[in-house]
Amino acid sequence: MAATLTRLSKPSSSSSSLSHFRRFISSSAATASETTNPPSPFTFNSNTATTLSRKDPKDRNVQWVFLGCPGVGKGTYASRLCTLLGVPHIATGDLVREELASSGPLSHQLTEIVNQGKLVSDEIIISLLSKRLEAGEAKGESGFILDGFPRTIRQAEILEGVTDIDLVVNLKLRKDVLLEKCLGRRICSECGKNFNVASINVKAENGNPGMSMAPLLPPSHCMSKLVTRSDDTETVVTERLRIYNEKSQPVEEFYRSRGKILEFDLPGGIPASWPKLLEALNLDDYEEKQSAAA
Ligand code: ADP
Repeated sequence: MAATLTRLSKPSSSSSSLSHFRRFISSSAATASETTNPPSPFTFNSNTATTLSRKDPKDRNVQWVFLGCPGVGKGTYASRLCTLLGVPHIATGDLVREELASSGPLSHQLTEIVNQGKLVSDEIIISLLSKRLEAGEAKGESGFILDGFPRTIRQAEILEGVTDIDLVVNLKLRKDVLLEKCLGRRICSECGKNFNVASINVKAENGNPGMSMAPLLPPSHCMSKLVTRSDDTETVVTERLRIYNEKSQPVEEFYRSRGKILEFDLPGGIPASWPKLLEALNLDDYEEKQSAAA
């Protein structure tokens, strides 16, 4: 892991993260991506800047980002890596869904935006993320893997203004498989775990390799409690894929030009992809070393 970080991380830039943060936040509020969104009741405060201060990578845990289209498996692989590395898995989609479930002041507008497959405004997302990072800081968390953030260039600029990202993993999968995977997604309404009932078997075509993925089925006690996300319908997923290409693909280029991106084409389901991902991250012997040290 250290070798990967040394190879891919850039040295810290300035120490004036607080002023950067304030500047980026105010310009972000002015150019929020979905201008139709109502103003957010959330505010940003100086604690957030403390939370996101720049630390030397050797004094903290990894700060990674997972990019990729809806359905690619960001959540699955990010959460496995988080367990392995002992860092929190912070998925902005989960933060949005928690806000929706809380029936707070924003939940009605957020429901509409999410169910149309649109992006929530940069301002709201950054506010939700800041609150999550502050709560983590209070619990002594160090490092993170961000999943689903940044999704716009503005979000990437704000993040860059406040902290260093060591590595960005860009997960890739054929588009037809993405759609099938989104439509097969299920969540246990009781334990909140994610599963997938899709059994994928696609032939090689147009230069894309053939691929098979077994369903990721729940244990029997979750089976009767499975629900489908309201934004996982064919129309909404198609719109989310379109928005990803328009707004989020430029974020890949943002990190590519900074030499931080690791491109990873998923070769299949978890059994085929997980060992290959660990290898690409130079983490293939990490699990063994961890258990040997325990
Ligand atoms: P996906 O499976 O499409 O990656 P997520 O669970 O990450 O979905 O996000 C669900 C929804 O939450 C998105 O469609 C979007 O409306 C909202 N959302 C999540 N993260 C962001 C973000 N960084 N910026 C704007 N909207 C976001």
